[in-house]
Formats: sequence, structure tokens, C-alpha cells
Amino acid sequence: MTLRTALMGTTLAAIAAPALADVNIYTTRQPELIEPVMEAFTEETGIEVNLSFIDGGIVERLQAEGTRSPADLVMTVDIANLSQIAEAGVLQPVESEVLTSAIPAELRSDENLWFALTTRARIVYASKERVADGEVTTYEDLASDTWEGRICTRPGTHNYNLALMSAVIAHHGEEAAAEWAQGVKDNLARSPQGNDRAQVRAIWAGECDISLGNTYYMGQMLEDEEQQEWANSVRIVFPTFEDGGTHVNVSGIGMTQAAPNRDEALQLMEFLVSPEAQAIYAEENHEYPVLESAEVSDVVAEWGTFEADTVSLDELAANRGTALRIMEEVNFDG
Ligand code: FE
Repeated sequence: MTLRTALMGTTLAAIAAPALADVNIYTTRQPELIEPVMEAFTEETGIEVNLSFIDGGIVERLQAEGTRSPADLVMTVDIANLSQIAEAGVLQPVESEVLTSAIPAELRSDENLWFALTTRARIVYASKERVADGEVTTYEDLASDTWEGRICTRPGTHNYNLALMSAVIAHHGEEAAAEWAQGVKDNLARSPQGNDRAQVRAIWAGECDISLGNTYYMGQMLEDEEQQEWANSVRIVFPTFEDGGTHVNVSGIGMTQAAPNRDEALQLMEFLVSPEAQAIYAEENHEYPVLESAEVSDVVAEWGTFEADTVSLDELAANRGTALRIMEEVNFDG
């Protein structure tokens, strides 16, 4: 039975029966990204952490399991996912001084249902050879003729691009946002395909000059022997909105309604915003820590600083439906 569950996509990193209760997490995050920080927690507290990697359908799973769910915590990326889980009513509010003092108010839910643990910017990867310094300026400009036949991106209906589109809507309204989406589509060198790193490979291969991508992928590519070359062919540019900053999204955590091991789960949540854990995140994932006193990794520091956009995460989440409709209307991925 356990084996069957494992084969169906649920992997428990550890099955143990220690004196202390384990913490069970449902997560969509890549295992290698969160294992180091969980290991540090176990080392410090003796509390084991079981990670169940779930590729979508976390809400349905929690709803089906109800009060019998073994899950204490949910970890995922993207504000749309976090809000969707919170709105489904499967999370409980967590009152914690430690969390609210470590995480800026705009990076956690008003009802204390979800808490951001890291942030990441959605930026432009630009060819070192074919794109001049200062040539990439704003997100708005990506729809201008300058970039005709020069842009690569993953599908417009992917969460990362929908969140960016949601920000465009917030800044300029629906109609202008649709024009922007059409403009960017018209500038594509090829139809949207692959992930963020595949676009950098396309720049390296000469298929396009710029791409949209999340910052941390630069760190990941530099650590991969094959992808290093792709990474070294581009530089990171932080575009801004004409009347704002650089688009930022989050990874985050929430406690389930069922949470059978509530105390240990809270202990883990608080550990994740500690200087120690935030440093591990920065170092291993090349994301930006939410804890202000924590430093970014050396690789991330090299990219320089940027001004985060002013549109709130709540607004991004609220605009997601409209963003998806626009992407479909302009047939962005067609
Ligand atoms: Fe990602």
C-alpha cells in the first residue's frame, strides 16, 4: 500500500517513528531545493520532516482527506497558488510574533493564512553579444518594434507569466494589457515552449536575444555543467514598469486545518524565517530571503540590486483570472 502510494507520486523522504512527532509537508517545490533547510531543522530539533511532493492538486487532496489529513504544512510557489489554497479553506491562521516580525506585512496574508519565505524577481535574460547595456528598459518596451523576432519565453499561461501579466493589468488596465500581450507575442522569435532555462539555451544558440525568466535560474544554471555555457552567454537585467519597479513573486508556506502535529509544525515555520534557515535558502536556491538581515548569495549579489514593484501580491492574485483570459484571447501560446 505504501509502495503503491509512492509509485503514484507521493514520496516520503523518511518514514520513522521517533519519540518526537514528525512534521508532514505537502509541497510542489523541487525536493533538492528544500531538503537542505529541512535537514538543518532536524539536526537542530530532532524533529523529522516528511516531504510529500505533489505536482498540483494540493487543494483537492487536502479537501478529500479532511480532518484525517496527515499534512501539517503546505509549501508552494506563486502568490496565485498560495491564495487559491488559502481561499479553499484548507489552511488555519497562525498567530506568531516570530513570523510577523521576520516577514514584512506585504509578504504574508492579512489573515495569517500564508507566509512568504523567499522572493524572486521575473527579469530579462539578455544576450551579452547581441544586446547592448541599457537596451532593455521596461516591461512595456518588450512590446515595441525594437524586439521584433528577438524574444523567447515559456508559455504565457504558465503561472510565472500570468503573475507578470497580472502586474501589467494592475499598472495599465485590461485593454492596454491585452495590447501589450499581443505586442510581445508579435515579437516572439518562436512559439512559447519549454521552461525558463530553455529560453536561455535558445539565446545561447542564437535563436533569440532576450527572454523572460526568474532570477534564481541563473544560479541553478551556473551550478550545472551543461547549462553553465548558456548562463555565461547572458546577463540579468532588471526591467521595471514605467510607473513602478521590477515584478516579484514569492514562495511560501501555510498550516493546514487538520495539522495533526501543530506545535512541531509551528516550530518549523518559525525556523524557516530564522537567520540560519534564510541563509540556507539564499545560498542553496539563489532566491531572495524575506528576512531583511539575511544576506543574498554571492552569485545573487553580483546581479546588483533592484526596486521591487509596488503592486501588492493580493492584487496579483486577484488579476490572475483576467490575465489567463487575455493570454487565451491573444492566443499567446499558439
Ligand atoms: Fe521555478
